Amino acid sequence: MYHHIKKLMFTVRVGTPDPRFGNMLLEQFGGANGELAAAMQYSIQGINCDDMACKDLLMDIGTEELSHLEVIGTLARMHLKPMKKDAEAAEHDPLIAIAGGGGVALCNSMGNAWTSDYLKVTGELDVDLRSNIAAEARAKIVYERLIDFCDDPGSKEALQFLMTREITHLRAFMSALDSLGKSALSIGAIPPTPVIVDQYYNDSTGEGDQGEQDFTGPWNTGEGISIIESPALAGFQVLKATPKTSRTTLDTEKKQKPAKK
Ligand code: MN
Ligand code: MN
Repeated sequence: MYHHIKKLMFTVRVGTPDPRFGNMLLEQFGGANGELAAAMQYSIQGINCDDMACKDLLMDIGTEELSHLEVIGTLARMHLKPMKKDAEAAEHDPLIAIAGGGGVALCNSMGNAWTSDYLKVTGELDVDLRSNIAAEARAKIVYERLIDFCDDPGSKEALQFLMTREITHLRAFMSALDSLGKSALSIGAIPPTPVIVDQYYNDSTGEGDQGEQDFTGPWNTGEGISIIESPALAGFQVLKATPKTSRTTLDTEKKQKPAKK
């Protein structure tokens, strides 16, 4: 159950309202990487989660994100408020000014409506935790950019708090994923096809406009990985390359530990 307490998680102070900046803040209110998306993603994953420990984690963080939504919404509202009466301010976001009376709406900074399509919920706990790690990283970088574009010290303080919590969540989701004891490449139950899984297709070749050529790195020179040169040009056929061996480089991964109950 939810209960609302009439106190913000972080007290918001704004010196001089900046309607243009208020519009940017909406990205974290009703945008793809915003607080409502985070709150809904984790809470719905939590409802679906059979692992009671991770369910607790997902509901804890999902609920905190709702408190962040309230903070960012309050902050955006303070910056947008002059639009209610000031024509010059209203020009920065006519939709908010005319349709919303200078209040926040569940839209992103471009005025696109929030959608549940933003949410990544697969019902596979480790896959969901990976999505959450990526979501936290995206939220962190959006907050960082907002801080960079902000002149108001009070707004900066609130954004710094919200940004910091995303790193706290990122660490919590990473630890939870780690606690499942699954190797990094073990996703789901069906193993990948041997040999094919270890092939690196060099599909972008030649000398580019900026003189760029092929590069090597651990992704294509790692142990057991073979590079297939220009497979499309060489008439490469996946089926013909299908393996007789059943061993893959993944076999050398650490043995899967059973998930903790
Ligand atoms: Mn947040
Ligand atoms: Mn977060």
